[in-house]
Amino acid sequence: MSSKIYDLHSHTTASDGELAPATLVQAAKDAGVTVLAVTDHDTTAGIREAKAEGELVGVNVMAGVEISSRWSNQDIHIVGLNVDTEAPALVALLQQQEAFRVERAVGMGEKLSKLGFPEIYDLAVSNANGHVPGRPHFAKAMVDQGHCKDMDKVFSKFLGNGKKAFVKTEWVSVAGAVSVIKESGGVAVLAHPGKYKLTRMKLSRLVAAFSEAGGEGIEVSTGTQNKEQSQTAAALAKEFGLYCSTGSDYHGPTGRWVSLGKFPPLPSDCKPIWELFA
Ligand code: MN
Ligand code: MN
Ligand code: MN
Repeated sequence: MSSKIYDLHSHTTASDGELAPATLVQAAKDAGVTVLAVTDHDTTAGIREAKAEGELVGVNVMAGVEISSRWSNQDIHIVGLNVDTEAPALVALLQQQEAFRVERAVGMGEKLSKLGFPEIYDLAVSNANGHVPGRPHFAKAMVDQGHCKDMDKVFSKFLGNGKKAFVKTEWVSVAGAVSVIKESGGVAVLAHPGKYKLTRMKLSRLVAAFSEAGGEGIEVSTGTQNKEQSQTAAALAKEFGLYCSTGSDYHGPTGRWVSLGKFPPLPSDCKPIWELFA
């Protein structure tokens, strides 16, 4: 038995997290996390600072990324663990994804402006702190301006899939994301399978496609999935011979219910993904 605590999914201010990379690593240290993967959305910009802080405070920081991808008309998130952040294939993909993010941010800004909220785009840009604003940055601006009572409301009314200010994005395919992660020396993990609202049959088809493309892991124990969702993920891992991952998907202290390093232990019949990093 390993006494290490692996939190292999987390965010910093390089994407939509609230804590700067060094602050996140300090918080992980305080929470007892021994191995922390920093997995910002479509960027590795926070890795260098996180790794430097990790050496100072004694947390093993793993370079990661969470890639937005598409499969069968669904947005699917693929986490890359232990990637080489300089790998040309990864750098090129992340540049393309950033261009999509810029396009989407401008599009959401225009839609919100037409809906009577012309100030939101600039506020989202300022919330994003020098990075491309994502949906949470827009949602926060809407709440701060008093247009909605909380972030969930902004998503259910404006920014969620198909809602009034939603902008559809042609992200890389699941297979494309997996192959770039592998080409960059990393391990591809299907993030939070319980979050996609897919039927069990469709989820099984997704996992089959992911595995076929070379994906090796699936998140079983996370900060957001319930027990039933974890059991489903564990069963899929077994069926497709995948390694099992754990991660909080921590975005910062205001994220309700989610804490660094806090999620149930993996079921005993799971192959932990850290066997690949030993
Ligand atoms: Mn996020
Ligand atoms: Mn995600
Ligand atoms: Mn995430």
